[in-house]
Amino acid sequence: MNNFDCIIIGSGIAGITAAIYLKRADKNVLLLESNIPGGQINKTSNVENYPGFTKIDGPSLASNLLDQVEHLNINLKYEEVISVEKEDNFKITTKKDTYNAPYVILATGRTPNLLGLENEKELIGKGISFCALCDGNFYKGLDVVVVGGGDSAFEESLYLSNICKSVTIINRSDKLRASNILQDQVSKRDNIKIIYNESITKINTENDRIVSVNLKDSILSCSGIFVYIGSTPNLNYLKDINIEVENNYVVVDKTMKTNIEGLYAAGDVIKKNTYQIVTAASDGAKAASSVIKNME
Ligand code: NAP
Repeated sequence: MNNFDCIIIGSGIAGITAAIYLKRADKNVLLLESNIPGGQINKTSNVENYPGFTKIDGPSLASNLLDQVEHLNINLKYEEVISVEKEDNFKITTKKDTYNAPYVILATGRTPNLLGLENEKELIGKGISFCALCDGNFYKGLDVVVVGGGDSAFEESLYLSNICKSVTIINRSDKLRASNILQDQVSKRDNIKIIYNESITKINTENDRIVSVNLKDSILSCSGIFVYIGSTPNLNYLKDINIEVENNYVVVDKTMKTNIEGLYAAGDVIKKNTYQIVTAASDGAKAASSVIKNME
């Protein structure tokens, strides 16, 4: 009963795309998710570069994905995977059960990085956020800070600027990573300011609320801090197998196969050049197609 053709771990767009392909090829597939389907897409305010949608908010896209999972009757279980072991087949252990399959696709995405400041962890959800879409409304009419100079920081600053009084982007160098189109959009917003070559050295609170941050030589008043300084692949459950990683990212070949026979990976967990929703979907399709081909 717990034997499958392929088990997919993670139901972001990479995992769901893989599941769609496998299910449509009539394979017995299990999709395991520890949180909510859609992954990071749920925390993205607006998506404007996914073909077929001029503009769609992240949760709506995630909801469409779940609709497709349900429409295809894909077996989705909300269970956190705690280990992957390779015997003859793979043995996947979750907090509730154990499952087996000859093929596994890892699609567990990434978790946002922290700044590493003293009181940061205790302020998460109480002034520090990694999700403008989820928490932006708490800062209506207030001054907020966004840390980072990548696409995420710029995209979410645009979202926050519609709600907050002001948004100050703090970039640690004089170079931005955000795409030109996002930089352009940000430059047109009167209430977004970018500070270069700066970093937060201390977060100041009064009555458990953030009131300001110390920069290198100055103090900046703010009520909230949104952190977008990159993220780290979620691979803690892989300690029992000897998977090849580079800088914490899973190394795959062009068929999305890892160094372990039968084990594939897709989406933000893999080492690649472009981390986009569309490339995650493509990775998922490629991984599933490789698995299907191997089964023939
Ligand atoms: P990212 O591109 O890696 O950018 C991270 C930013 O945080 C950089 O500006 C980096 O500065 C800064 N940073 C890193 N560590 C820091 C620290 N300890 N303190 C202060 N600043 C720090 O991350 P991302 O914006 O999350 O994007 C991840 C990937 O997803 C990218 O490939 C991006 O293109 C893609 N993405 C695409 C879209 C879109 O297409 N609309 C939207 C979101 C994300 P340095 O430059 O100095 O390292």
